[in-house]
Amino acid sequence: MEILVIISIIAVSGVIILLLREFNCWYLKINERIQLLKSIDAKLGQLSLEKESPKPEQYKNHTWVCPKCGMINPPENLACTKCKQKYT
Ligand SMILES: [Zn+2]
Repeated sequence: MEILVIISIIAVSGVIILLLREFNCWYLKINERIQLLKSIDAKLGQLSLEKESPKPEQYKNHTWVCPKCGMINPPENLACTKCKQKYT
């Protein structure tokens, strides 16, 4: 008997939570946050499409840091002197 009461209380509160979901989303400005995040995401996507990845020729006279081991390599090296990771 008690178990039935507990189960029904849980079920009723679940329904209430579902009914109040929209209200909570509005009250806590969750909808606005999601919209804002989506617009930020879209803008970032546009930015990353616009920005081309730098070509190695542009860095001819600069040293480069190996992404794998962190070794600072001279510009003429096409592969890391430490771990042989290729320069990308
Ligand atoms: Zn390396």
